[in-house]
Amino acid sequence: MKKILVTGGAGYIGSHICLKLSESGYQPVVYDNLSNGHRDAVAPNITFIHADIRDRDALDHAFETFRPDAVIHMAALIEAGLSMREPARFYEINTAGTLILLEAMRRHQCHRIVFSSTAAVYGNCDVNLLDETLPIRPENPYGRSKAMVEGLLTDYGVIYGFHALALRYFNAAGADPQGRIGERHDPETHLIPLALQAAAGHRDALKIFGNDYNTPDGTCIRDYIHVDDLAAAHIAALHHVLHQSKPGFDAINIGTGQGCSVRDIMRLCQEITGNSFAVSDAPRRPGDPARLVANPAKAEDMLNWQALYRNPRDMIMHAWAFYCKMAGPS
Ligand code: UDP
Repeated sequence: MKKILVTGGAGYIGSHICLKLSESGYQPVVYDNLSNGHRDAVAPNITFIHADIRDRDALDHAFETFRPDAVIHMAALIEAGLSMREPARFYEINTAGTLILLEAMRRHQCHRIVFSSTAAVYGNCDVNLLDETLPIRPENPYGRSKAMVEGLLTDYGVIYGFHALALRYFNAAGADPQGRIGERHDPETHLIPLALQAAAGHRDALKIFGNDYNTPDGTCIRDYIHVDDLAAAHIAALHHVLHQSKPGFDAINIGTGQGCSVRDIMRLCQEITGNSFAVSDAPRRPGDPARLVANPAKAEDMLNWQALYRNPRDMIMHAWAFYCKMAGPS
């Protein structure tokens, strides 16, 4: 059975990936400092290492002990808004931290990696659907910290013979369809969980960050991708890096190809929960591109993967079911 070291495996997306890895015949080993993840999001039968990716000794110990066949690297800071206020932390953890991990991989002859990248690497592009051939022009340090890692992986592919794939996530949403795990950030900054908190009466109102974008309703458009589909994309990407004979690096969009505005999401959250909540207009959040929607064709071609949940309604329904299970609506 192939062993996969999953950094950030106790986080929202990571925990869904670990479930899917176990169900697909892999042995995940979670490596997480719990700065944002939850110990109880990792199933009891999965090995858990409580450590930071910047800790060389802990990495050496993990590679010596478990000898993973590949790494899925997700451990990172993820909030674009925060990155506009504290960029140094993003470069330290996301970029320099990844370099430390890559060097540990080199020391231990583990040369296969699936990396969590982001649609934020594109920034503002005047196209309907973003494809991977577009120039990389991030609008915020979060996107830049990830774009820099894509640069590292390009060189590690060519010069050190790494087999590396970056998955450029669009907006992860939803929860395990069976309700076992879901999204739990503290503090929460993402749109759908915030809207559900408001619908549950656990938050007074929701702010719309910017109503004057050049979009049909003036609010930002995003491509929401179900976390279960995102997890399935990692299994396909892992299969690719484990079996690809030629080393190298490539980047692939993981999205649905459909856009949804902030106002659309609010409306759906009110409709699905049956609860209305107050919504107020607020200034733009610095660093937010107006529209990020994937062209998912490359993922279909290269990974034989496509999103099964194509409607944000399913994502919100699953997220709401998990929210009610965890917190209970008031
Ligand atoms: N957003 C909003 N109000 C909120 C949180 C988010 O209007 O309270 C907007 C945000 O400006 C962006 C979209 O919702 O246009 C998605 O934001 P999120 O933080 O969920 O994900 P991001 O696209 O930044 O990764």
